[in-house]
Amino acid sequence: MQTEFPNQPGYAPAGALERPNPVCRRCFRISHYGEFTPVELPEASYQAVVREALAQADQIVYVLDVFDINGSLVPNLAALLANRAVHLAVNKVDVLPAEVEPEALRQWIRRVVESAGVKVADVWFVSAATGSGIGELMDGLAHGDGTRVCVVGMANVGKSTLLNQLIRRSGPDAKPQFTTSRMPGTTLGMTRAKIVLQGGRTLTLMDTPGLIEGHRVTDFLCADCLKATVPATRLRPRVYQLDSGQTLFLGGFARLDFESGAHQPVVCYVSNDLVVHRTKLERADAFWESHQDDLLQVPCAACRARLGPLQPHRVWSDRARVNPGQRTADGLRIGRAGGDIVLPGLGWITLFGAAFAGRLYVPDGVVARVRPRLI
Ligand code: GDP
Repeated sequence: MQTEFPNQPGYAPAGALERPNPVCRRCFRISHYGEFTPVELPEASYQAVVREALAQADQIVYVLDVFDINGSLVPNLAALLANRAVHLAVNKVDVLPAEVEPEALRQWIRRVVESAGVKVADVWFVSAATGSGIGELMDGLAHGDGTRVCVVGMANVGKSTLLNQLIRRSGPDAKPQFTTSRMPGTTLGMTRAKIVLQGGRTLTLMDTPGLIEGHRVTDFLCADCLKATVPATRLRPRVYQLDSGQTLFLGGFARLDFESGAHQPVVCYVSNDLVVHRTKLERADAFWESHQDDLLQVPCAACRARLGPLQPHRVWSDRARVNPGQRTADGLRIGRAGGDIVLPGLGWITLFGAAFAGRLYVPDGVVARVRPRLI
């Protein structure tokens, strides 16, 4: 905390420091007015803070957003961890569709994280918002080796909300101490809190900043667009029976053109507040031009400018007849068992493996990928 430079991290007016539990002006404004002042945190500074926190930690909780597992992997974390195993806290399970099979999901997440070089001690499904699974995670930490617990994860996966839940669970008088917000990049430095567990054992919790990589659509959005895009309630599958010659718009964020193939179901798992609109492929360009500011609702013009224009990527299924020239390196291939096309920060689209050839448009820099079907 400092009282000299209002535009730099940790600024608080001198008077604020005399109050009990002082917070910086930025956190005060986030908590009280929902206002947000972005502060740049370069990757090198991020790594320095996380390295210092890890050096002090006995146990490490790696928080992932279940809605966006690949998008919530911290780049280069394996190097910072130097072979130490983490507790994986898979957060926001309250938004998962009820049909997801937890054991298959657990195994898939473990594989994804381990293939990024990170050793996994155990996997906990939690919802920091509702508190589900938090008691179990707390028991796991209480029985783990050592009392200093460091929490790492990308911006907006719910680290601070999770820590506040752990604090709340530690006793009726415990007060949440970490500032949370919908905006990525709320936590800038390492912050600490102590909690006392049943039986008197004390844990020291250390929050770390979240990295913003710019690969998720949510890394570019204003508070209003985030509200419509980040799911706050359980995802309702939206099923479309598609024929070739049709296009699906996911708000103004993405567009799936079905150029040729068999009649088939396509399921969209995105925020219930996001508009999904089907139209004829031949009319899709005109629709896009005229309806970004009304029917499609989000992103707003300012967020669109930050996201940049949509870029097309080929999509084909193994059952589709496509010539080799259409199988581009940046394309998305759907196997015979189907797959989920994951749109980082936005959700996913499930195809079931029928013949499909077309194009997916996403903002430049947002990397869509295919994973095995969750459902
Ligand atoms: P951090 O940047 O990782 O510290 O993330 P925050 O704790 O500030 O949370 C980011 C956003 O995710 C906020 O809008 C939270 O309300 C939301 N959030 C956090 N945990 C959950 C959860 O378990 N479920 C849901 N639906 N939203 C959550």
